[in-house]
Amino acid sequence: MNKRLLIVNRGEIAIRIMRTAKQMGITTVVLQSARESDALYIQQADEVISVNGSADEKPIFLQPEKVVALALEYKIDLIHPGYGFLSENPDFADLCREKGIIFIGPSPELIRNMGLKTVAKEMALTAGMPLVPGSNGTVASAEEAIQIANSIGYPVLLKASAGGGGRGMRVVDKPETMVRHFKSAADESRSAFGNDNLFIEKYIANPKHIEFQIIGDQHGNVIHLGERECSLQRKHQKMIEEAPSPSLSDEKRREMGELAVRFSKKIGYYSAGTIEFIVAEDGSYYFMEMNTRIQVEHPVTEMITGVDLIEWQIRIALNEQLSLRQSDIQLQGWAIECRVNTEDTQNRFAPETGFIERVLFPEGSGIRIETGIANGSVITPYFDSMAAKVIVHDSNRQNATAKMIKALDAVRITGLKTTIPFCRVVLRHPDFISGKYTTRWVEDNYSPEMFYNEDEEMIGALAASIAYSMEYNEIASNSPGFTNESMSMWVLNKRINK
Ligand code: ADP
Repeated sequence: MNKRLLIVNRGEIAIRIMRTAKQMGITTVVLQSARESDALYIQQADEVISVNGSADEKPIFLQPEKVVALALEYKIDLIHPGYGFLSENPDFADLCREKGIIFIGPSPELIRNMGLKTVAKEMALTAGMPLVPGSNGTVASAEEAIQIANSIGYPVLLKASAGGGGRGMRVVDKPETMVRHFKSAADESRSAFGNDNLFIEKYIANPKHIEFQIIGDQHGNVIHLGERECSLQRKHQKMIEEAPSPSLSDEKRREMGELAVRFSKKIGYYSAGTIEFIVAEDGSYYFMEMNTRIQVEHPVTEMITGVDLIEWQIRIALNEQLSLRQSDIQLQGWAIECRVNTEDTQNRFAPETGFIERVLFPEGSGIRIETGIANGSVITPYFDSMAAKVIVHDSNRQNATAKMIKALDAVRITGLKTTIPFCRVVLRHPDFISGKYTTRWVEDNYSPEMFYNEDEEMIGALAASIAYSMEYNEIASNSPGFTNESMSMWVLNKRINK
């Protein structure tokens, strides 16, 4: 395919997109800025466009006009925005269309409508989607918010209509605090999205976040590729995702999947998209929003369906028909993804910046690594802290969990701390093992001490195995230097070296 693709994103997703594009014979082009001049994604692209300017300048990924001007200058046919800022910016998609460049994603109209949650909810209602009880559209004032909250009952959630990434969201549990929360949510939304419209939803206690992957073409064909459970979140940011969800019966899966497809057809959706549901403790579910882009967690869906979502995004953008039918989609086995963020999990997830000295990821059947880092990479404070993703696939959930624990144990990253220790604790926790975790899990369970328990567990196992050896083989008693005292010193050192 003699086409030139500009990827307007960085890190692991730029490399992920490149991989498929190169297999399709497409030339890959990326943007290089002073903020990250030697990143891995730049080294791997076929061509690099250098963007002049200093590190203090607004990042190129936030400048739609400049990106399109460069695309025209470098004779770009297609633009893939990854999951970055420009992926859900309707003005950027409009600009691409106006200049004759193919934007890989849905139409600007669809992005615009789904970008406003109140509009999306209205459209979802007409497609028969259940909605969380709340306001009809936006709420003009804190006084009106109090009236609505009184009728649906506290606690309620104030949400930004243009929101994303959990910004502009506030839980309000009594009328006395509404005015304060209303103002701060509106202020946050205005500064983040240039729009301060808020709406209200009933706050669902202990919910699960379950989302359906959709793919549709420009000829009216839409299918779903099953769901992902993304309830393991911290401050509304996902940390571990899995597919399928351990909490859906086949019947619920079919029902929700059909609703997602019906809704997507009704709005004329095309490209890859995600319909997010919030699931209450009693199993009732509600439409939350639709994301009109590829998601960070798309690999778990690819692993259980064998479908390359990026390839279909590209084909659909080129107006190809979707050749897959719903009956072609068989969910096979179980997949889990752990996000590797450069954060100090023992210090309340404080960001870590600087040099990655050495990186070594495991390889093996059913292990997939998506990484934006290599030996010597620099992590700057300018971008998101997600550096890589570890994804595993196995025959069932138990095997996939065991494979993930082994895979994470084998990752070696030196120089900066990452969220891997945290993921290792979660994967061994009874709430994860039972699949009963909710979006509140991290808030309810995180403490810097939880990591010591992991060590103690390991030490316990080690001590048990030594005792076993002593009893039956007398190996331990013959080991030079083994005493109870040396064991306690080892434990102490482990703690001090943390
Ligand atoms: P954003 O687009 O800002 O990420 P979402 O609407 O996707 O906002 O919600 C983000 C997260 O907030 C969800 O994954 C869920 O954990 C929580 N959430 C959203 N709506 C509700 C609700 N009505 N009750 C409880 N939690 C909610």
